[in-house]
Amino acid sequence: MGVSSIHSFVENMLTTVKFLMIFFLSRIAMQTMNTDTPSIFSLRTLSVDGQFNFHNVSHAGKDFGNRFQLPPSAVLQPKTISDISVTIKHVYQMGQSSSITVAARGHGHSLQGQAQAPGGIVVQMESLQESEIHVQSGSLPYVDVSAGELWINVLRESLKHGFTPKSWTDYLHLTVGGTLSNAGISGQAFRHGPQISNVHQLEIVTGKGQVVTCSPGENADLFYGALGGLGQFGIITKARIALEPAPQMVKWIRVLYSDFTTFTQDQEMLISSKKTFDYIEGFVLINRTGILNNWRSSFNPQDPIQATHFKSEGKTLFCLEMTKNFNADETDIMNQEVHRLLSRLRYIPSTLFQSEVTYLEFLDRVHVSEVKLRSKGNDRRSKQPTGSSTCVPADSYSQNSALYLTG
Ligand SMILES: Cc1cc2nc3c(=O)[nH]c(=O)nc-3n(C[C@H](O)[C@H](O)[C@H](O)COP(=O)(O)OP(=O)(O)OC[C@H]3O[C@@H](n4cnc5c(N)ncnc54)[C@H](O)[C@@H]3O)c2cc1C
Repeated sequence: MGVSSIHSFVENMLTTVKFLMIFFLSRIAMQTMNTDTPSIFSLRTLSVDGQFNFHNVSHAGKDFGNRFQLPPSAVLQPKTISDISVTIKHVYQMGQSSSITVAARGHGHSLQGQAQAPGGIVVQMESLQESEIHVQSGSLPYVDVSAGELWINVLRESLKHGFTPKSWTDYLHLTVGGTLSNAGISGQAFRHGPQISNVHQLEIVTGKGQVVTCSPGENADLFYGALGGLGQFGIITKARIALEPAPQMVKWIRVLYSDFTTFTQDQEMLISSKKTFDYIEGFVLINRTGILNNWRSSFNPQDPIQATHFKSEGKTLFCLEMTKNFNADETDIMNQEVHRLLSRLRYIPSTLFQSEVTYLEFLDRVHVSEVKLRSKGNDRRSKQPTGSSTCVPADSYSQNSALYLTG
């Protein structure tokens, strides 16, 4: 064989190999399309009361953190629990060869894409219209709610009956299912535990599409798995939440410390005392941006005069925030009790900020700050609680550059 014929032989071989590679790669692509594309679109064959959306899905690929943007292939807007059950059953029956994932989306306030299902199905829980908020009074009052309901609505409805859930998050425009899949922490947790410790019963659509009721006495593994289970044990569709009588008013107090040890000792003393405040939370204030000015506006005009003149001189400060609940006819007793508790604390004396607001105003305080900041065009999003009583990044709505420590 001459050099030129060897050359053309090699060229022919290369062309054949290239052809074979293209052939195999296109086979793989076709196989992928054959398994995945019809699978997602087979959802169209399902009979649901709500609807599937296959086109306008980009919103379900975003969240509050704005860091991950992974759109699904379909969004289910369920009207009934059966819609969710039918969908999950269908995906389950596709078997393990299907790579379709399903994620429940509450109010989308996750920070790291937890409520996203890249290429899969997002179930938009706020569309669920099946059940009304139902308050049951009696010696062990509770409220039955849809998991797609916002906590602010649960509060408003419970208050109409003179009751309130016991444990909260700082921000109430989150869904019941969203916070129960995490923990739900705020300044009441030192007394009542996080929100997941105040649930009597759940209704869940499991990974096989079954609708199961669970509680500490019935399907307890599922109950405790789903609470704080980051959406990995099924989709919570209903929750029965413990209630207690609601106070009318709240005495709201903030004091500042410059010494971390004194601050934590005082906070620990308060949370371990029997007769203490009803809400205790700690913040670290990295005072770069005049936060104290922002913050004072929520306390005016009841501030003591000296507090409005307080200057931090750019130091890192530690804030203890506390409340005492009361009804109008108990104001004197409440003031005596607050005075007694404050006299045991070692805060910087000129930094006592106090206010009296309604219980609803206090609990919805972060939203009020959110609305104010949004109106100024400040939509920075940076808060991410860790789900334990530790230090977490800033609540940009209520205190720029603040870290908080929950009792
Ligand atoms: C401004 C702001 C303030 C916050 N303040 C607090 C606070 O004070 N305390 C606190 O503890 N947390 C706080 N968080 C965190 C918040 O509690 C969680 O991010 C919570 O998951 C958000 O609820 P969501 O309804 O937006 O849920 P999403 O972000 O929509 O979902 C969160 C997770 O829960 C899953 N999920 C949602 N619904 C269900 C369901 N029905 N069944 C099963 N799984 C479900 C999702 O798949 C996802 O994994 C705050 C977050 C923000 C953005």
